[in-house]
Amino acid sequence: MIDNNGRSIDYLRISVTDRCNLRCIYCMPERGVCEMEHTQILRFEEILRIVRVMAGLGVKHIRLTGGEPMARRGCLELAQQLHAVPGIESISMTTNGILLKDKVHQAFLAGISSLNVSIDALNPAVYSRLTRGGDVSQALCTLQQALEEGMNVKVNTVPVRGFNDEDLIPIARLAQEAPLCVRFIELMPIGYGTQADRIPYAETAKRLEAAFGTPAEDSQTHGHGPARYVKYPGFKGSVGFISAVSHEFCASCNRVRLTADGRLKLCLNHTEGLDLRSMLRQGADDTEMMDEISKAIANKPGRHAFYEEISDHEERNMNAIGG
Ligand code: SAM
Ligand code: SF4
Repeated sequence: MIDNNGRSIDYLRISVTDRCNLRCIYCMPERGVCEMEHTQILRFEEILRIVRVMAGLGVKHIRLTGGEPMARRGCLELAQQLHAVPGIESISMTTNGILLKDKVHQAFLAGISSLNVSIDALNPAVYSRLTRGGDVSQALCTLQQALEEGMNVKVNTVPVRGFNDEDLIPIARLAQEAPLCVRFIELMPIGYGTQADRIPYAETAKRLEAAFGTPAEDSQTHGHGPARYVKYPGFKGSVGFISAVSHEFCASCNRVRLTADGRLKLCLNHTEGLDLRSMLRQGADDTEMMDEISKAIANKPGRHAFYEEISDHEERNMNAIGG
């Protein structure tokens, strides 16, 4: 599907739940969120129906996210069913890795070929403070299992001043030692992200260069996202930078999102979207769904406008949007 800004939309991120086993300080409140009721959450057969319709419109790549996707029972069975939908070429998952430990082989068999594991610190005390109680050794175990499985592996790290400043270099070193991508994601001012202190992309890049030398641009493409990748001398893997705030990537945005409660969300930072759950439950047929989805995607906002006065700024937390 091509939207009104000439962008080809072929990537759907599905938030399968708003729940999570962790409480990262920039994503969720300490006590957890007021969880959606079961009836509000899309059933798996509803997700499958939406994906079938959207595959007919040109969606080829699916990412399962959340909240924590593995916090929803049956998530790997859902992955397997999505993998079998005609037109769907790849299934990936973004996870904190904890609940996936010892299930990575199962995930691979279900058709998940790429895994993004979010790890903000290697120091156990810092990781525990940032995630409010997580055990980094479990996330690292999942990371190792994914590498052994031969998956395409990425580590997602959000640099947060006053928290993981000293962990950025050790995390980058993971890409020195193994063929994986470490991606530094600039903190976005969404939900609890507005209350934490972002370390800008340029600062992280400068510190990495001081530690590892001048990097070369990495010409290889890694996935379908907006990261800019570089390779430092002697590294087996790459380092990516995603800086939604410093460098807008809206012009090449190829994605839309499906929230756990069934909204087709057209841009991370706009509330505007399509209530697919109501359409499904009111008996819309595939043609009606296709028409409405096409119209909505055509009108995908041109840019996120994080720091501008817009009427529909997203106020939900990232766990409800899926990152
Ligand atoms: N629970 C899974 C995880 O942590 O990977 C999947 C959902 S999480 C919302 C997806 C990604 O969004 C994570 O890498 C997380 O670090 C990132 N994230 C959450 N809030 C963010 C924010 N305000 N700015 C930038 N990234 C954020
Ligand atoms: Fe959970 Fe992921 Fe949000 Fe952390 S970033 S609280 S792991 S949903």
